[in-house]
Amino acid sequence: MPQLHDRASASQESVFSRMSRLAAQHGAVNLGQGFPPGAPPPFLLRAAQDALGRSDQYTPPAGLGSLRDALGADLGVDGADITVTCGATEALNVLALSLYGPGDEVLMLEPVFDVYMPQARLAGAAPVTVPMRLDPQAGWTFDLNALAAAVTPRTRALLLNSPFNPTGTVFTPDELAGIVALARRHDLWIVSDEVYDELYFGERPVSLRTLAPERTFTVGSAGKRLEATGWRVGWIAAPPGLSAGLGGVRQVTSFCAPAPLQAAVAAALPVARDSGFYDDLRAGYAARLALLAGGLRDLGATVFEPRGTYFLTALHPDWTAQTLVEAAGVAVIPGEAFYARHAAPHGLLRVAFCKSADDIHLALERLERYGRGQS
Ligand code: PMP
Repeated sequence: MPQLHDRASASQESVFSRMSRLAAQHGAVNLGQGFPPGAPPPFLLRAAQDALGRSDQYTPPAGLGSLRDALGADLGVDGADITVTCGATEALNVLALSLYGPGDEVLMLEPVFDVYMPQARLAGAAPVTVPMRLDPQAGWTFDLNALAAAVTPRTRALLLNSPFNPTGTVFTPDELAGIVALARRHDLWIVSDEVYDELYFGERPVSLRTLAPERTFTVGSAGKRLEATGWRVGWIAAPPGLSAGLGGVRQVTSFCAPAPLQAAVAAALPVARDSGFYDDLRAGYAARLALLAGGLRDLGATVFEPRGTYFLTALHPDWTAQTLVEAAGVAVIPGEAFYARHAAPHGLLRVAFCKSADDIHLALERLERYGRGQS
């Protein structure tokens, strides 16, 4: 019998799918995988209903013209520099396959979002991770010198994520300026994963693209912005003039994203911007963050307040993700899921608050009961 290629065994069930499966099996409240509890906003659903029967055939691989234009207007770039993809996941894969190859190294920070390393490897390149520091008092900090020290003559790109899943870090303008100077000094591409660009709790995150437009590919996701993670509409904003160069790869990865959903997102983006939808989204998440963070602190956890995303990270001396899902009836993601080369901080958990307030209350009650049973 022929054998599956080694690559196949390297890509096992993701920890996010595994925890969702265990959550269902144990009847646990799922504060693991990052997807919202309810339906997308009505203006998005209506736009999809209007598009069905009208936009149903292939779109150009770079995306429906109206969506490229809407994204260009929203992001302040030329629509011609936009490539629409099946979610940010495909956007990141198209970039991996288009920007790096055998012999190249790609620098990324650890904890690391789960697709970055396998995608670099599928492209034949070597992912190289630099750890963020976690101090129980100061929280997560980023060390530009450590990033600079990891650059070698083989380094082709920096792959960064701000707001950062799972740490919740939003890089400051000074940190971004340091990153850009490093990229320019070594002539590196920057892949900037900004899927949580509208999910922040302090200052609006600065996009790396605005600081280094000549070398930054920005990745975004309608799933995150518009609460429709299953729609699989994402995008790349390329440096001016470079999006045509992505076409060769993009047309063989999935050819195009679902046409009616592209049309719906095109119609919905200006509505979301002008109606204050994102402000309401942030306010809703800020309230649930406060509920979850306060509740976890009351139960003895050290909580690292995120500046963005819909996740928080926490340490608790008595909790592991496996025992919580089995014995407490609460699913969270173990910190180790985000570490490959370095050791995860002991007891680190990622907890999602893109869930209903009822679910968060229920999870806190169950954790409290579990704690009482332990003592
Ligand atoms: N990047 C990050 C940092 C993410 O957290 C996610 C989704 N969890 C993605 C990319 C993938 O987004 P999409 O669902 O649009 O593929």
